[in-house]
Amino acid sequence: MHTDPNCIFCKIVAGQIPSKKVYEDEEILAFHDINPWAPVHFLVIPKEHITSMAHLQERHAALMGRIMTLIPKLAAQEGCNPYPAGGFRVVTNTGDEGGQEVQHLHIHVIGGARPWKKG
Ligand code: AMP
Ligand code: ZN
Repeated sequence: MHTDPNCIFCKIVAGQIPSKKVYEDEEILAFHDINPWAPVHFLVIPKEHITSMAHLQERHAALMGRIMTLIPKLAAQEGCNPYPAGGFRVVTNTGDEGGQEVQHLHIHVIGGARPWKKG
């Protein structure tokens, strides 16, 4: 599996930087965002160092499918209220113009009662 020793999220995967874990399996890690915008805010990442959505290859299709089907389960587990009155927001910033700050693909899952700090 490709990792980048200088990447903060690879360091979280390796346990070199602590995180508050939401979910983990062989391929996927989810953990609380350190600077939450809302009552629920966690990040879901592939353990493999994929730089951004712009770097996805066909071979990542099953992994990304697993991530997307996992998100509603984790959102409910973390306290997002049920659809349709509740729900959640899924955001993946990509590149400079997309507002990406950490260069390891991550999906923000944001939810809970409003108001939120952002969005
Ligand atoms: P983005 O702008 O989409 O690249 O967002 C990066 C996100 O990573 C931000 O929401 C940060 O709060 C979050 N973040 C940065 N460092 C950590 C960390 N060590 N643990 C948890 N979240 C982090
Ligand atoms: Zn990485």
